[in-house]
Amino acid sequence: MFDNTKLAMFRGQETPFYYYNLELLNNTLDAAKKAADKRNFHIHYALKANFNDRILSVIQSKGFGADCVSGNEVQKSIDVGFSADQITFAGVGKSDKEIKTALKHHIFAFNVESIQELEVINELAALEGVKANVSLRINPNVDAHTHHYITTGLDENKFGVPNSELEKAAAVISACANINLIGLHFHVGSQITDMNVFKSLCVKVNEWKNWFEERGTYIKVINVGGGLGVDYQNPDENPIPDFEAYFEVFDKFLERNAQQEVHFELGRALVAQCGSLVSRVLYTKSGAKKNFLILDAGMTELMRPALYQAYHKIERVGADLKDELLNYEVVGPICESSDSFGKEVELPISKRGDLVVIRTAGAYGEVMASRYNLREEIRYVFST
Ligand SMILES: *Cc1c(COP(=O)(O)O)cnc(C)c1O
Repeated sequence: MFDNTKLAMFRGQETPFYYYNLELLNNTLDAAKKAADKRNFHIHYALKANFNDRILSVIQSKGFGADCVSGNEVQKSIDVGFSADQITFAGVGKSDKEIKTALKHHIFAFNVESIQELEVINELAALEGVKANVSLRINPNVDAHTHHYITTGLDENKFGVPNSELEKAAAVISACANINLIGLHFHVGSQITDMNVFKSLCVKVNEWKNWFEERGTYIKVINVGGGLGVDYQNPDENPIPDFEAYFEVFDKFLERNAQQEVHFELGRALVAQCGSLVSRVLYTKSGAKKNFLILDAGMTELMRPALYQAYHKIERVGADLKDELLNYEVVGPICESSDSFGKEVELPISKRGDLVVIRTAGAYGEVMASRYNLREEIRYVFST
């Protein structure tokens, strides 16, 4: 159950707001770093999961690299102090302006997703008189067994260079004077909790690495992306993902020599559990079929339930185990039927003014907030 000692801190605050537990963030980052360092693995934090300034500065201070999916994210990483030689830049649709931003900063690598993109980066790099480091993003056709909206590594997905084009991509790279191929990149999806998915990924990575090496292309960097999931059902029992088990899969199954580097791009696993969305009950309403709990937070503050039917644990702050329970649909105030946080939520009987927390909201929460319905700018609060 949510730590009720936070109640005093929340009482006077205007709602809704994100609450970030920096102690948990620190402990999570330390656990990930320890498990990675032990194996000489590199972690780039995927900024798109949460780019709140304070959170970024904590992550940067611990020596993580950055994984970006836009020119603004590259610029932001530089601004908060991430080292350029630890920045990767992925995305199927990098604009010329974004590529120029990344070239200007001499980032570690572009994760390139098409042959045309290779040619454009080569041209722009030539104009700037620089040589761009690239990793080829390969679509390994591994099923992530996650929600289809967050599956990215199947043949039908838009990501990566199609396998049938790799021969040509290798030839284009050899012909491009301003491109330097440093490695291969993979990312199969998000919220992956079955370690067998990562084992299957390793098998594909080994195959493709061999394919390139047989053709005389040396692969220095093996970037296996992110995707490690978190426990949305039991945030208190499992506040920190099992990084040991995760990295162990790659340590065991990735074939490599001592010079080859293994890189990861974790987002959700590092920041999801440290964030909660705190909201107040505005109204309660009981119809013929159900009871509604109407919150002052909606899909404009946390879009994941509306966007991909994501589950988030919902709790009443200050609830007592003796309280009588009722089944609610917990909804927001936005004029959309998809603006619902949960259809069958057992909560202590609640009233106007009660505080509700929506857990595990640190990743893909605040970053997706919108002003739809001309909502207020999102607020946040930290505890140390
Ligand atoms: C989104 C993304 C990540 C991070 O995914 P998580 O599931 O949050 O770990 C990593 N790499 C790329 C290329 C991405 O698009």
